[in-house]
Order: sequence, then structure tokens, then C-alpha cells
Amino acid sequence: MNRKKSEKYYEEAKKMFPGGVHSPVRAFKSVEGAPLFMCKGDKAYIQDVDGNRFLDFCCSWGPLILGHNNPKVRKTISKALANGTSFGTPSPLGNEIGKLILDNHRYLDMIRFVSSGTEAVMSAIRLARGYTGKNKIIKFDGCYHGHVDSLLVKAGSGLATFGVSTSAGIPDTLAKQTIVLPLNDLDLVEKSLKKHKDIAAIIIEPVPANNGLLLQSKSYLKGLRSLCTKYKVLLIFDEVISGFRVGFEGAAGYYKIKPDLITFGKIIGGGMPVGAFGGSKKIMKHVAPLGNVYQAGTLSANPIALSAGIAALKILIQKDFYNKLNQKTEKFVNHLNEHCTKKRYELHVQSIGSIFWFCFSKKKIKTADGIDPKKMSYFKKMHKLLLQKGIYLGPSGYEVGFVSEAHKPSDLKQATQTICKVIDKVMV
Ligand SMILES: *Cc1c(COP(=O)(O)O)cnc(C)c1O
Repeated sequence: MNRKKSEKYYEEAKKMFPGGVHSPVRAFKSVEGAPLFMCKGDKAYIQDVDGNRFLDFCCSWGPLILGHNNPKVRKTISKALANGTSFGTPSPLGNEIGKLILDNHRYLDMIRFVSSGTEAVMSAIRLARGYTGKNKIIKFDGCYHGHVDSLLVKAGSGLATFGVSTSAGIPDTLAKQTIVLPLNDLDLVEKSLKKHKDIAAIIIEPVPANNGLLLQSKSYLKGLRSLCTKYKVLLIFDEVISGFRVGFEGAAGYYKIKPDLITFGKIIGGGMPVGAFGGSKKIMKHVAPLGNVYQAGTLSANPIALSAGIAALKILIQKDFYNKLNQKTEKFVNHLNEHCTKKRYELHVQSIGSIFWFCFSKKKIKTADGIDPKKMSYFKKMHKLLLQKGIYLGPSGYEVGFVSEAHKPSDLKQATQTICKVIDKVMV
């Protein structure tokens, strides 16, 4: 595969930007070669500057549930653009997307728009602290919540300990406000809630999809809900990936569990930078200017970004949208799994809705420490061979893949054959 132009751009970019990128995983550090510089996306395909074309399973890390360059989204953006790019005032588009979401999501009464998933989580955490008057947060090992200071932490030694920051530049005092627990263990959660009186919220990705796909049981998630109610702690579902992905009502609707706050990003902006957080009126009325929890943004609810979100959500709300997408994905995943089972590989594909993950084990994995980092060498080989055969996966074995509406059954059928051949080369 020719990467000459990408390599040239990468050399130039490295002089200007740390690591040549604006988000670390884009640098291809976990796989081989220079990152590919993409210049065009159309339906399920993306094209790089050297003219290589790929079937895209990264989908911009989740936002592109409709695939690239959806005509309806593009037309809606163009229409909005004719009226200018930003007003710094309320606009009717805000009401339109607000209605679209609140009328179709049983667990949301009020919502506030921001510009990224990180911002949504950061604001939800502040709101939880402001509302409860408490400080500490429980998070789970293997869940990612954006680069929010107090959530860039991992567990210290031993179970159920205070967090240790995973990035330089985070004050210890802040990291100590976060308690990190393993997933899939309700007893530990209750022990922590009993021990620490100062807990404002438990935050979880109800569909943990940033460190493999560590699917939790419904009873575990329901258990968290009961514990939060019992100990008067808010339950925050970080649905930046799962929101509008596993269904219009995200994981909350999928599992029929009402969290106190939900955070959004990715799909909600139809491929543009939008995030949001929402919940019941009782809690949301504490957000400024109605309440005393400050939160603001110069470009929040930007009309162009919202117009893209509106166009996308209007398609997602259509009857059978998710059934079709999920069935298509299930078929694709089943074929891959049949192949791996038949060949007895230490590999299977975990999935929910239109999210999938190559899990290098025969068994389901539910906790972060269940993933063997040594197995990522298989992914590295797989990634390289798949690129050569025109299939683009996110450049890390810890990342999930996404199927979009634009992936045609014929695309998936061909991809299945290619992936099976590559698996045969890698796994023997
Ligand atoms: C992507 C993601 C974030 C961060 O969103 P950004 O828009 O990248 O800031 C937060 N939480 C979850 C669950 C995510 O998947």
C-alpha cells in the first residue's frame, strides 16, 4: 500500500503539532506505519491522500452512524450556513433539536448543549457535586469519560482505592476525589458507598466501549441504580458513545434504567462538534442561569453544528432505523464468530447494536483487567493486513468498530470474507 503522501504530511505535521496529531490515538502508535491522512468520505468509504480507498469501520470514532457525507445532513448544513455561522444568542434550531430529543427520550426533561463529550461530562460532574453538595466520584476501571481532570485516573494498588492520575498535570488532591472500582462487582460499590460519605455520583459508560467492549449485565446496571438511590448518590450514564447508538434512547432505553444524568456527544452532532447533558428538571434546574452551578460556552448550541445534529436525529427517529442497522451488524458479527468457533481461534467478536469489538479470547470479557495486553500483537498484524485489503479499523485493539447505515449488506459480506482470510493468517 502506497503511503508516500501520508508520510510526507505526517513529517510536516510533526513539526507543527505534538506527535503530528490533535488527538493521541490518531498517531497510529499501537499499529504500524504513518497515520493515513484522509481527504474524503463517501457513504461507508474513506479515501486517503494517496488515493487508497477503505471500507471504514472507525466512522470518526462513532459519530457517523449514517456513514460519511450523508446527503440529507449535508443539505441541512448548507441551508443553515446561508444564514451565517454563529449568533451568540438563542436560535430556533436549539428549540428544534431540544424538542426532537426530549419528546423522544423518556428519561430526559431538560438538556444543555455543549461542544464536546468531554465538556458534557465535566459539566455533569460539576452539576452532580453542586446538586448533592458532595465531592467524590466513583468511576470504573475500563470506562473513559473524556479528558476531564478528575476522571483521568486509574485505580491505585489494591481494589477500591482512590485514583492515581493517568496524565501529568493533574493535582493529586483532585485525583483523590475519584474512587476507581472494577466493573461487574456490586459488592465493592456498596462497600465504597458505605465507607465514604462524601460521594456525589457514580459515573459509568453503561455500554463500556472505550477499552474493548466490556458489556455489563442488566442486573449489574440495575444494581447500581438501586445503590445510588439507597445511598442518595447520583447515577450518571456517560452515553457519549452509546447515546443514539444502541437505540434512540441509548443504553438507558435499551436497559430501561433511569439514570439521574446522561451525557451525550458523538452521534448527537451528526458529525459536527456537539455534546449535551440532561436529566430531570429537579436536577437540571440547578444549572446557571436558573441555578447556581455555572456552565457556559461561546459556541455552545452553534447553529451549523445543531443543524447537522437535527438532520441526523430526524433520520434516526424513523421507524425501524435501529432494527435494520442492528440486524445487519448481527449478521456480520455472527459470520465472523462462526468462523472463529469453527477454527477454534482464541478470538471472538463481542457486539451490541452496531458496535463490535475483536476480543482475543474465547470467553466474554467484562472487566478491564480481563484483557491481555500481549494479545494486542494479533491486532497489530490484523490491522496492517486489513489496511492492505482496503478495510479501515480504528488503529488500536482497545477500540471498538462501528457499522453505519451506509454499510451495505454487500459491503459487509465482502468485508466478512476479507476479515476471515486475514484472521486465518494472523491466528495460526
Ligand atoms: C468519546 C467519549 C468521551 C469524550 O468525548 P469527546 O467529544 O472526545 O470529548 C466521553 N465519554 C465517552 C463514553 C466517550 O466515548
